[in-house]
This record gives sequence, C-alpha cells and structure tokens, in this order.
Amino acid sequence: MTNKEKTIGILGGGQLGMMLADAAKNLGFKTNIYSPDYLSPALNYSTDQTIAEFDDKKNLTKFLESVDYITIEFENIPSDTINFIAKSNKLFPPSDAIKISQDRLKEKDFCRENKIATNRYINVLNAGDLSDWNYDKKSVMKTRQLGYDGKGQKIISSKREAKEAFNKFGQVPCIMEEFIDFKLEASTISVRDTYGNTYTYPPAENFHKNHILDTSNVPASINMKTENTLKDISTKMITNLDYIGVLAVEFFVLKDNTILVNEIAPRVHNSGHWTLDGSEVSQFEQHIRAISQLKILTPKLIYKTKMLNLIGDDINIWKNKNNSNNEKIYIYGKTDIKKGRKMGHVNFLEDLE
Ligand code: AMP
Repeated sequence: MTNKEKTIGILGGGQLGMMLADAAKNLGFKTNIYSPDYLSPALNYSTDQTIAEFDDKKNLTKFLESVDYITIEFENIPSDTINFIAKSNKLFPPSDAIKISQDRLKEKDFCRENKIATNRYINVLNAGDLSDWNYDKKSVMKTRQLGYDGKGQKIISSKREAKEAFNKFGQVPCIMEEFIDFKLEASTISVRDTYGNTYTYPPAENFHKNHILDTSNVPASINMKTENTLKDISTKMITNLDYIGVLAVEFFVLKDNTILVNEIAPRVHNSGHWTLDGSEVSQFEQHIRAISQLKILTPKLIYKTKMLNLIGDDINIWKNKNNSNNEKIYIYGKTDIKKGRKMGHVNFLEDLE
C-alpha cells in the first residue's frame, strides 16, 4: 500500500489539525478530520471530514473503519473516546501517554517515578488536603484536568486563598505546587518513531502574555549544557512513555540553571510552529511520519526564528500582508475573532551566524 492509499484520522479540528492535515497531504496521505464543530479550521484542509460528537459511537466506528492511523490534535478528548479508539490499535501516541498528560497529578507522578525533577506538589481531593501544604512561600493551585492557557490556575499566598480557589474551582481534583521564580521558560519538541529512533529540536525560549504563549525564540538564550540537559530529559520522557509521535515538554529554567519540568503535551505544540520555516523538516511532518510507520528525520536548523502568535485582534494587522523572505504569515481562517483566541502566527527568520 502506498501513502496515497492510506488515510490518517485526526481527532480535533483546530489549527494544529489543519497543519497536520497539510503535512499529511504533502507526504501523499489522505486525511479524515473528526470534529464536533462544523466551523473547525482544519476541515477545509482535509480530504474527508466527520462532524460528530466525541461520544457518538456510531460515527466513531465509521471513522475508525475509514482510516489507517489515528492521532489527536488536542489532549482533552474524553477518556471514553480514547479507550474506544485505542482498541483499534491505530491510535498514536499511545493512550497511556495521552491519559498521563490529561491529568497534572499523573504528569508529576510520572516525573517523580522516572527521577525527573519537577516542582514540589501535593494532590488536593478535598478541603482537608489543603492542611498538608506549607503556605510560607507563594504557590499555585491548578485543576488536575482541562486547564489550558492559564485557565484553572490561581496563585496562592495563604490557606484562606487556597480554600477560596478550591471552592471557586468547584472542589474538582486539584494540585498545589510551588510557585517558581524562573529565569526563563523553555520547551522541547521531541519525536519518536516506531523503530525507536528519537529526535529533539533545539529548545525554544517561550514568553507568555496573559498566560497565553506570545513568542517562541530559537535558539533559546541558554548555554550548551542546559540545552543538552533539556534534550536528555525529553528523550528520557519520550522513551520511558514508549511514545510514538511528537511530544512537547515545557520547562522552567531557574537562575542557577536548575531545570524543572512544568508539563507535557502529547501532540504537536504551539512552541514548535517555528519548525515550519526555521528547520529543514517541521514538527507536523515528523509527527505524521512517526505515526504512519515512516522513519523520522534529523533536520538541521536553517534560520534563527522568532514565532509570534496572533491573538484576537492582532490578526487584523497581519491578515492582508504578504509573506516576505524573512516574515512567514500563517492565518488559521477562524471565523470569529475572540479575545485570547489564537488566530494565526508569524515566523520571523534571521540568518544563522
Ligand atoms: P501551565 O498551564 O502549567 O503551562 O501554566 C501556564 C503558564 O503559567 C506557564 O507557562 C508559566 O508561565 C505560568 N506558571 C505555571 N505554573 C507556574 C509555577 N508553578 N510557577 C510559576 N509560574 C507558573
């Protein structure tokens, strides 16, 4: 069977699905995007579309039968759906890795079990658990599930504040963790194929605005030792998770260069969009290669790249501009402009020294 006869199924229809579908098409695959929302930006980029809810077993079965490989473009797909799909043996990354990254406690426990440094934390299942935490230093309470872009997070300075936040979150399972006064935030994009080969891109240095990723710079302003440690940790994680596909790992780098894992994402990641132009091969192509039993590549960095997210109204400044040699503009085609919504991104390229 050539790539042309094979179809990649993608759960989720956002911009990550759109760029995955594009990469799959360039490798000669057909695609089927599964999304509950008929306005999803990825749908226009896909050969086939399935518009259905994630718990619609009839449509899920039809979808499963129509594709050769399945992947996800966001991690918060209901676990029933993940379990149902995993039975087909077509799902990559593996369901265990997806489940770990759906729950901040499981992520932290995985780090602890694998001797990977992360910030101190406790599990908070009920108000009584809040007594097990020391409030002398600033902390952060986070809901264990469904948090993103700062949602489901609160900085805490006292037990009273912790109780208030826990109630405000509806007493859902949470973690309390140390607040980290980091020097910088960095992330890695790693990929592992079915042959056990791994590759990690040069780490990106990330800057957030209002808890949303604003820019990613590659190369990051870190020394070679720190770069190698970030890559080693990511390789350990992707290998110990027995992972197939792209895995993103977010880190805090402290003033004394101590490195702590913040969280992981079992998918292509916003801080890897620079690879579309700054690397010989993008994270999207690498992910499609890995999940479809092709070998991953070891691309070279070709430009210094700054990726700028276009959030909400920012899109109006860029939507009618043309690409130039050193500015590559990506518009996601979302119909409604909303505050905080990722509408596109720009890669600014600079020659390497
Ligand atoms: P997260 O969803 O955990 O990636 O958090 C989003 C952003 O909030 C991070 O990229 C950091 O900028 C900030 N943040 C999260 N947790 C902490 C922490 N424990 N200490 C300091 N800043 C944090």
